[in-house]
Amino acid sequence: MLKRNFRRFGLWLFLASLLSLPVLALAQERTGSGGGQGRQAAPTFLQFLMRPKFLTMLIIAALVLILLLSRKMNDRFKVLILLVSTFLYGVSANLGIKFFSGFSMHPSPVCTVTKSILYGFGLPMMVFLAVILFLTLIGPKLFCGWVCPVGAIQELISMLADKLKIKRHKLSFRLTQTIRILIFIAFIFLSWTAVIHTVSNGRVVPLSLYDYINAFHGYEWSWAAALIDNLINFLPLILTIIFAFFTYRPFCYLVCPVGLMANVVEQIALFRVIKKKDNCTDCQACIIKSPCPAVAEIVKGSVLRPDCFSCTRCTGSCSRGLLRFGR
Ligand code: SF4
Ligand code: SF4
Repeated sequence: MLKRNFRRFGLWLFLASLLSLPVLALAQERTGSGGGQGRQAAPTFLQFLMRPKFLTMLIIAALVLILLLSRKMNDRFKVLILLVSTFLYGVSANLGIKFFSGFSMHPSPVCTVTKSILYGFGLPMMVFLAVILFLTLIGPKLFCGWVCPVGAIQELISMLADKLKIKRHKLSFRLTQTIRILIFIAFIFLSWTAVIHTVSNGRVVPLSLYDYINAFHGYEWSWAAALIDNLINFLPLILTIIFAFFTYRPFCYLVCPVGLMANVVEQIALFRVIKKKDNCTDCQACIIKSPCPAVAEIVKGSVLRPDCFSCTRCTGSCSRGLLRFGR
């Protein structure tokens, strides 16, 4: 009862704040739209939302949700969807083909959160943030689990590691969450105090910690840049890919501020992995076969759960079919 009330209250609170985003955006546009006649009007919240990148994200997420809820998701669909997301939002914009120019992951999800904290909420950031939060609220982590290209490549590698029978280590959620929060606190501290900074055009620019550990930079290729600059940009993604063979989604659990934010929101998601209480023999098959630290808490019925990326491994591992996506 307490759990249901908690979720319902959280849901309404979250919906209210989510609805306030477009209202804020409209207000911002109105106050900022007093420019001269010859000036081109800035795109509105809705126009941003209608861009191919966001539209396709919403379509992919809707398709995933249908497959999850109808229990039709299988490894073939999974690989196909994850490859499409990796290509569309990670690779395509770098190919120099005009058709794909609108799919660039710029601003990246990490920049969407961090640059907003550093420089204020611009409209592109607000739209992206609204899409991420909306998909996470519908759940189960529809953005992180299926759309994000850094998440998708880690998920594909974890599937490959399973096929290659590479033994993966499950890190304790308490440890990964502590590291993820500490990095975020360090970022806030450095941003707000500007103890480490550069000066650009007479303006103090505080150091943004995530700029040095942002795996999304690996999806921003610069053909003109020096090899060493590209390597520095690629390093977080390369390390993420290597570590993903040995532990599940290292960047998401250990570093990503969007993962941290989404972990809070997913607690009140409309749909997520649920367990039927009856008939559980406590055989632990789901916990053993799953790569994440979430299943153990789901089985226990904990109110607060570690990140679940709706990978479907646990729902397929219970011989009694007690775990499923639903409400
Ligand atoms: S936690 Fe970050 S990197 Fe992982 S899937 Fe979500 S946005 Fe992508
Ligand atoms: S194994 Fe289950 S709980 Fe863990 S991420 Fe996959 S779907 Fe979520």
